[in-house]
Amino acid sequence: MIELEDHDHAKCVARILTHAETLCQKRGVRLTEQRRKVLAILADSHVPASAYDILDKINRQGNKLAPVSIYRALDFLTAQGLIHRIESRNGYVACTHAHESNECGETGSCDPENVTVFLLCDQCGQAGEFHSEALQGLLDKIAATERFRANAPILEISGTCAQCQDSSIEPLEAHEA
Ligand SMILES: [Zn+2]
Ligand SMILES: [Zn+2]
Ligand SMILES: [Zn+2]
Repeated sequence: MIELEDHDHAKCVARILTHAETLCQKRGVRLTEQRRKVLAILADSHVPASAYDILDKINRQGNKLAPVSIYRALDFLTAQGLIHRIESRNGYVACTHAHESNECGETGSCDPENVTVFLLCDQCGQAGEFHSEALQGLLDKIAATERFRANAPILEISGTCAQCQDSSIEPLEAHEA
């Protein structure tokens, strides 16, 4: 679980990248330079980025990459559970799930059978990732009753984050104007 307000983001980015390296090594898959670059761009912000946002950033860094390479990298990172696709924002975020904790078990990334909850802020655009045992239990119960097998369920909830609620009296744009 990640607290978006007041967190050490540099530590957050470092943790995501270190975890990706360890995990890929453990699984015997290659975190190529391209894949790492795409992950680093996603890790840089908690606001979901589209494939074209990523392409744009890579080009501005002076690297030329074809859109198809971005999509391939995104497919790889999604398959490894290192990033998540946020349908309602048409973008991707790096997984910030606390992977060093026991709840990840052997897999070391978000279990595709477990529900991931995203709290999406309509104002700053940030996505907070959460896992809830209570919610998981409820979903398992519903799935069992319906004999339904959920495939990487993601719950996307939009609203206003704590930070934006606190600053709503004096919006940021007022300072910029
Ligand atoms: Zn962060
Ligand atoms: Zn995750
Ligand atoms: Zn916000």
